[in-house]
Amino acid sequence: MTQCFQKMAAPGRKVLIVYAHQEPKSLNGSLKNIAVEELSKQSCSVTVSDLYSMEFEPRATRNDIVGCLHNSEQFNYGAESWEAYRKGCLTTDIVEEQKKVQEADLVIFQFPLYWFSMPAIMKGWMDRVLTQGFAHNFPDCFDAGLLKNKLALLSFTTGGNEEMYSKGGISGDIHYVLWPMQHGILHFCGFKVLAPQICFSPEYETEEKRKEMLTTWAQRLKTIWEEKPINCTPEWYFR
Ligand code: FAD
Ligand code: ZN
Repeated sequence: MTQCFQKMAAPGRKVLIVYAHQEPKSLNGSLKNIAVEELSKQSCSVTVSDLYSMEFEPRATRNDIVGCLHNSEQFNYGAESWEAYRKGCLTTDIVEEQKKVQEADLVIFQFPLYWFSMPAIMKGWMDRVLTQGFAHNFPDCFDAGLLKNKLALLSFTTGGNEEMYSKGGISGDIHYVLWPMQHGILHFCGFKVLAPQICFSPEYETEEKRKEMLTTWAQRLKTIWEEKPINCTPEWYFR
């Protein structure tokens, strides 16, 4: 696995950044911009799904299926979206996001931590875009997930500081927060998960420290294609 990723050359690689922040001047906005800049310098092709600007629909509803339902008597979103994926009857905004994912070698999720998780608009992206048949199809999940040839990385900011997110800290080990997102969603769909990029409590840090957070991220991206994915198993989270 290591060798395979080490051989990946940057030019021509495709990166999708799924970005969820309302304010372009936020630190999340800056982290997104710096990633676009750095990856473009490497001649990667970068696409950004700016979810708030797109007014991305986060609700998984009947409207996601174009035309007749398989069972109009009793609506089942999972069953209907799976069937619609197979028949090419998913609504266009989902299809467009799925195309971007399909083309990407690496998907970066950039967001502020909301309630130990991602903002609702990004969770809605997960709910609606990672359809059964497209991203997973039991037993094609985890290492056999349908997006298994892709890398994913969570890049997020927090309100709490690093000490609060340590094992003895008030919020508990940050690995517990990562478990549902990295293992429950990304790995479930087959993604190889790269180590998360976490900027702890930028609002309470100095300007200098925030600049450092941005530089560290840009620096890491320079060698991102050489990174080995984490060993995304329960032990990684709950050791
Ligand atoms: P911002 O306030 O936008 O940015 C911080 C500072 O960086 C600003 O002063 C900005 O001007 C500055 N900045 C921007 N660009 C640059 C630059 N290029 N150079 C230098 N400085 C720059 N936190 C938790 O820890 N756990 C939770 O469960 C949690 N739940 C939340 C739930 C909700 C609903 C909300 C609203 C917040 C929650 N938070 C939680 C807090 C949240 O995670 C943080 O407020 C957020 O991560 C901060 O990131 P930001 O990009 O919004 O910061
Ligand atoms: Zn895992």
